[in-house]
This record gives sequence, C-alpha cells and structure tokens, in this order.
Amino acid sequence: MENRCRFCAVSENQQSFGVADTKLASDGRYFAIPSIGSLVEGWTLIVPNEHCVSLRAHYGSSNFGAFVSDIAGKVRDAYGSVIAFEHGANHEGSATGCGTDHAHLHIVPFDGIDVEDLDSSGIVFHMMNVADIAQVVGSSEYLAFFPDIAANPTHVRVAILDASVSQFFRRLIGYKLGLSAEEMDYHKSPRLDVASATAMALMPVFETAAENE
Ligand SMILES: [Zn+2]
Ligand SMILES: [Zn+2]
Repeated sequence: MENRCRFCAVSENQQSFGVADTKLASDGRYFAIPSIGSLVEGWTLIVPNEHCVSLRAHYGSSNFGAFVSDIAGKVRDAYGSVIAFEHGANHEGSATGCGTDHAHLHIVPFDGIDVEDLDSSGIVFHMMNVADIAQVVGSSEYLAFFPDIAANPTHVRVAILDASVSQFFRRLIGYKLGLSAEEMDYHKSPRLDVASATAMALMPVFETAAENE
C-alpha cells in the first residue's frame, strides 16, 4: 500500500477519514482540520499546504499569524479558552512528531495546563516572542507551547530538545483528563466521533465567517 502523506492528501481535498478530514478553513497557504485522536472536542490542527517537518520557518510570517489568530479565536468562541502547541521535528520519521511528518500546530480548547506543569516536566521551557522561534531553535528539535493563543498569539514557551520527545503535550493533557495510556494512544483510540463532532460544530462557524467577508 502506498504510504502517502495524509496532510498532503487533505491539502488536495482527498479525505481518508470522511468528515474528520474536512478542511474547516483555508487561505491558500494554510488549512485547518479537526484532529484525529482528539482528547477533547474542538481540537483543531493548522497545517501548511507545503510539506515540511516543522513550522519554524512559518512563525515569523504575517500570513501564518493572521490565519492562526482567526482559527484560534473561532475555536475559543465555540469552546472556551485555547492552548496551542507544536512538536517541532527536524527530520522525517522523528519520534518528536506524532505519527505524521507534515508540520502542524495543535489548537486545543483546554485550560488545565499551566507553567508549573511545564516546569515540573524536567524539560526546560523558555519564554519568548513567536517571531524569535526560528532563530532560537536553529536546526534543533523543539517543543512550542502557547498558553493562551487566542488572547496572546505572540507569547510562546519553547524547549530546545537534545533528544526526541514523543507526544509530550498529548500525554500531559491525557494525564490531566485522567485517561489511561490506551485511551491516549490515537492508534488504539482514534476517536473519529470526536473529530466529526468538531467538524459539525465548527463548519457553520467558518462558513458564516466566509460569507461575511
Ligand atoms: Zn505532507
Ligand atoms: Zn501533532
């Protein structure tokens, strides 16, 4: 079976998972889709059309910033305050990713992670402005966490990694929700019903916005 990049397929409007692979919004460079394996409803991914392993080169772009702010604001309006995170890989097949080599930003309606959770993880996060990520991380792998991306889209905490770290934020959110390891594993629990619910809830929000512009 051909192992085609799923996000490249979605960018060309090919849907492997039905409504869960629906583009909620697109500006021609980036698109937003519900996340397979969502631990909470409203979990949305922002994905560049271009296949790349991380968003480090995108964070300084005003187009990216505008698209992220738009999506994060709408997810917050529908579901409440949102965090965002990226696991910035630096090569195809890195364990720092989450099963896809195509870069994406997770937008998650969840307010249960605070700075102390990051500090007590044993990984050192540095506060910075989003525009500085590319320069600070260089060619290293990294984790990026936005504590309140809808209200403060430039405020980010970044950890530079010496070794790959798998599923850091997903495991942290699952732990806070009291989920078992099996429930957190999206291969075992893809939760397509949750992603579909996100699509059904957000599609009218985005369509209404498009009509108004
Ligand atoms: Zn791709
Ligand atoms: Zn991911």
